[in-house]
This record gives sequence, C-alpha cells and structure tokens, in this order.
Amino acid sequence: MPIPSAHLLLRFCPMLILLLIAWPDTASAWDEEGHAIVTLLAHDKIPSDMPDWLRTPKVRSRLVYLSSEPDRWRGQHNAHLDHANKPDHYLDVEGLTQFGLTLQTMPLLRRQFTDHIAEHRAGHPTAEDKTLGQGRDRDYVKHVPGLLPYEIAEIQWTIAASWTQLKTYEAHADRVSPAMIENAKENIVYHMGILSHFVGDGSQPLHLTHHHNGWTGENPNGYTTDSSFHAFIDDGVVSLHRISYDDLIDRSKAARKVSTDDYWKEIAAYLQETNNLVEPLYQLEKSGELRREKGKRFIEDRLIDGGAMLAGVWEAAFRGAHLDEFRVRRLKERYPRTPGRKRMAAKENAATSME
Ligand SMILES: [Zn+2]
Repeated sequence: MPIPSAHLLLRFCPMLILLLIAWPDTASAWDEEGHAIVTLLAHDKIPSDMPDWLRTPKVRSRLVYLSSEPDRWRGQHNAHLDHANKPDHYLDVEGLTQFGLTLQTMPLLRRQFTDHIAEHRAGHPTAEDKTLGQGRDRDYVKHVPGLLPYEIAEIQWTIAASWTQLKTYEAHADRVSPAMIENAKENIVYHMGILSHFVGDGSQPLHLTHHHNGWTGENPNGYTTDSSFHAFIDDGVVSLHRISYDDLIDRSKAARKVSTDDYWKEIAAYLQETNNLVEPLYQLEKSGELRREKGKRFIEDRLIDGGAMLAGVWEAAFRGAHLDEFRVRRLKERYPRTPGRKRMAAKENAATSME
C-alpha cells in the first residue's frame, strides 16, 4: 500500500496541521516547554479589542517558537552577544542591597543603573573588582546583579513602536503597499515572542535571586546547596509532573493590569512577587513536597502567573501605540496616494494577513 505523501496528509488532515502548528519544535526540553506554556496561556488572554490577525494558528505558533529564542542566543558563545544577552535573563534581587538599591528603587533606565553600580564600585573597591568582566566573566554576569526589568520594559516599548508603525500605515493605507503593512505586523509578532521569553523568566523564582544555583551564604535552615537545583526547576520538575498547557487552561488567569504610565512599578511588583517565592521553593525542595502534588501546583502557578503578566504587557504595548507624525509627513512626501488602494489593502489584509 502506498504511503501518502506529507502534502496529501496535510491537505486532508486539518487536525494534523493544527497539531504541527501548535506544538513547539522541541517539546521534550522543559525550558522551551515552560516558555511555550506561558506563551499559549497569554495568547488565550489577548483582549478582544486587539486585532483578530493576532489570533491565527500561524501567529500562535510563531510566538511559541520565539519564546525560547533568547536562550538560543546563548549557544553561539560569542562575547558580544553574551555580554548583551546574558544579564537580561535575571535579577539577583538580594544583590541590589550592596549598591544601596531595592527592586522598587532601581533607576528607571538601564544605563543609569550600570552607571550607579560603576560609581558605587569606584567608591567601595574590593578584590573581586579586578576579575569583573575578565576571563570567564566576559559576559559581565558578575558585573551587574542582572538586568531583567530593563529588558522587559524596553521590549514593551519596542512592541509599542511596532504597533505605532502599523497604526500609521493603516491610517494612510492609500500611500503604503500591503507588503509594508505585512512587515509591520511581522515585527509586532517578533517582538511579542521575544518578550514572552523574558516575562517567562520573570516567573521563575531562581531567576530573581542570588540563590540561583542552590542556597548560598548563611544557611540556618539547611536548604539545598546543590548547584543542579536550577536545572531541576528549569528542566526536570515540569517533566516530572508532566505539566502541560492543556492541564492549565481551566486555571489560567486574565491579563494582569499593566499600564502605559506605571509599567515600571508594575514590572517591579511582578518580579518582587516572584522573588518572594524563593524561600518557599527551597522549603518545598527540603520537605520533598516539590516532587509531590504541592510542588506541581507551585510550578503550575508560576507558569500561570507568567502567562497573565505576559498578556498584560502585550496589552500595555498595544495601548502605547500612536500615530507617528514624522512618518506620516514622510509618507505624504514620498508616496503618492493611490486611489482605491486603501480599500484594496484593507480587503487584502483581512483576507490574507498572517494566516
Ligand atoms: Zn532566559
């Protein structure tokens, strides 16, 4: 009996197509699996007044794929890339105190923060300073306690900028081509997917503490100091409990409130809540409950909260869009109006966009 070609299978099995589209490429790895779950939960909660083209299986699949992209950058092992990327994935909240800061008092801007740290180090030199940024610290992960809140805020506004571009194009669709509108949409999806990674990292307690690879320093409660603990949370515990998106749909939460004005405080509050769960996580490990129902619930709640926050930041980014007057002037200068194109573009976009 002849084996049907993949083409035929895809043509006649719509369910198979859906499965192929929705399933992450490397479903077995937890780190990708966890980020995929956060993304899918958030995608379900996109507010109804955001455009329908965001809800297609193709966009959903793309967002899932992109949600692990910043971790893939680590595999390149390049000094420039590591330096730019690695400190963006975490924040050692306890490490802020040596610089006279807390999550709530961190300066608003990334470079204000790194300048503050540099000034503080200059005033309080230690033997460790000589090794910072050298040898194995080329990626500067010892140099700063992490940059996660900056990365989240900066990508929120990168997405907003992409929405602004789309809004501007759509308002002047008689001067732009459908391809320009399509490109603007693809940029929105790209940045939304990258954001998904960092908001997901922000829901994992070991990304918000200097106890990230086992408990460090004084340890009166005898928590684990095993350096593989992080990998177990990132990787093993979701597999152990077979946590899946399907099992979390019923408990998923609505988009968390994130605004265009107070987003910095709201991001800090989200990360603080995750940091507050560091010791409870170590307690679960110590009691053995991490491997039982209570531990399963704990990890599930982290993914659910990550999904709610991601939906909230996605929404805030959408609300941050405006008409770019400079770009409007440029469109008027460079592209003559094409009568009928606005109507045609709207029709084409509705029919074909991001299917
Ligand atoms: Zn990460």
